Amino acid sequence: MSRTALTEAVAAVQSYVRYLQHLGVTDLPVTFAPPARAGDSTPPALPCITAASPQVTSSPAEPVVRLAQLAAAVRDCRQCRLHAGRTQVVFGTGDPTAALVFIGEAPGHDEDIQGEPFVGQAGQLLTRIIAAIGLTREQVYLLNVIKCRPPHNRNPQPDEVAACRPILQAQLACLQPRVICALGTFAAQTLLQTEEKISRLRGRFHMLGAVQVMPTYHPAFLLRNPQYKRAVWEDMQRIQGVLGLR
Ligand code: URA
Repeated sequence: MSRTALTEAVAAVQSYVRYLQHLGVTDLPVTFAPPARAGDSTPPALPCITAASPQVTSSPAEPVVRLAQLAAAVRDCRQCRLHAGRTQVVFGTGDPTAALVFIGEAPGHDEDIQGEPFVGQAGQLLTRIIAAIGLTREQVYLLNVIKCRPPHNRNPQPDEVAACRPILQAQLACLQPRVICALGTFAAQTLLQTEEKISRLRGRFHMLGAVQVMPTYHPAFLLRNPQYKRAVWEDMQRIQGVLGLR
């Protein structure tokens, strides 16, 4: 692991440990896995990747630490061609213990530069949608199906999705949200492994194991088609209902 990656992983863990201390958590049983090396031809070791992995969380900090380990492990990922054009891997942001996770498609230009999902125009709209259900970006977790920016914002290709899927699965295994909001066709279809249109998928919950998935229109689509904002608001109210936010 490079010095910068190590510093980032340590900072992420330290900041969450401080947060946990505010909550009164004092002991954190932690075991670190060996880090992945840049340029390895084998897939990065992904903590908490399999359904068979022990789900025992002896401390609320454990998934958080494993998420930070995962972020560090994939920082130099070269599992598909997208690594060549990216500025950085856009892993995800927010509260790793959040009940609600938003999943988008792939980083765009702004996200690639800033290293954070949903910071461009569509992201600003998403931030307002999140505020409308009484939450902040910091209280949910935001991520994308694809972690690296596709060139010219083209659609991700099937082999790129396949290469990134283990990271997504490992993230979700760490996050264990109650509800996932899948933003747009691509996220909804990838997550639910269907080719059904978003217009048919949205408006109701779909089960993904124990997690309730609400597909809805992507904020970038809403920017071009504001008449669909009402449908998204209805989907958000369904999420609010399930999470007891109203
Ligand atoms: N669109 C996405 O799907 N994700 C982002 O992070 C930004 C725009």
